[in-house]
Amino acid sequence: MTPQIKVGFGARHLLGTEGLTVEQLTTVLDLGERFLEIAERPIKKVPTLRGKTVINLFLEPSTRTRTSFEIAAKRLSADAVNISGAASSTTKGETLIDTARNLDAMAPDVVVVRHAQAGAAALLAQRIRAAVVNAGDGAHEHPTQALLDCSTIRAHKGRIEGLVVTICGDIAHSRVARSNIHALRALGAAEVRVAGPRTLLPVGIEALGAKAFDRLEPALEGTDVVMMLRIQKERQQGGRFPNTREYSRYFGLNERRLALAKPDAIVMHPGPINRGVELDPTIADGPRSVILEQVARGVAIRMAVLYLLGGGTDAGEQQ
Ligand code: ASP
Repeated sequence: MTPQIKVGFGARHLLGTEGLTVEQLTTVLDLGERFLEIAERPIKKVPTLRGKTVINLFLEPSTRTRTSFEIAAKRLSADAVNISGAASSTTKGETLIDTARNLDAMAPDVVVVRHAQAGAAALLAQRIRAAVVNAGDGAHEHPTQALLDCSTIRAHKGRIEGLVVTICGDIAHSRVARSNIHALRALGAAEVRVAGPRTLLPVGIEALGAKAFDRLEPALEGTDVVMMLRIQKERQQGGRFPNTREYSRYFGLNERRLALAKPDAIVMHPGPINRGVELDPTIADGPRSVILEQVARGVAIRMAVLYLLGGGTDAGEQQ
């Protein structure tokens, strides 16, 4: 039996990493570190959220995040209910607010929401009693992805402070990039670089504290961490670049380009990967890739978030 964990998050909801303090970020990262070990146990379950209900309301496609939240809730002994877009009454014309208020009437403790519209999670947080976790709202934020990314970086580099991190791809439509910029800056990264075709670099990105590059090579020079992103076709209107082959030629990560980064640089990707487009398969499956570790840490980070917002107790106790 491990010692009881007594931590607070100081907020009722997790809507984004923007505005989170170093203490809040570190609390989730440290707690995630402790929960990681539960995945190694023969019985992967602790009783900390027994009697609590977590609803996963996923109104946009998801593989990793939805499964990860469901596993996280179940490992904490919460009752997890999953609702996906196609199976929900939003396809019958019900508004998000009506759906959420009806779900809230069934008294869940936490609602995890993914939605195509930026601001959807914040809207729910104003209207329902349950704690709300943003699992991705349009191109706005995906805070648990950034937290699991920071957790993976910290595990490999021992710290975030002083590191150079390069995020490459469709920055304009990426909630992963935005959440990571906020979290990495708050945790003291020396430089967060974003790289992509000019048409995929949003105006004002430098105001968030990132340094923008319209070529990949200079952005990779001497970097500690390379984070590759997928082209978010579902959020794009009109051609932002000539074609996939052209994109890959200039912005795909291959061994030659990776050689510009520090020799011990790690390669990350939030998934889903478009192999051969943004990432050469030999790198995705190679020794510097930490992509599957990101997935594993995702469960522990989401356990930490559900624990903090769902009112968990006795985090290390085995059932
Ligand atoms: N899975 C991540 C997200 O939901 C990244 C992606 O879809 O490209 O934003």
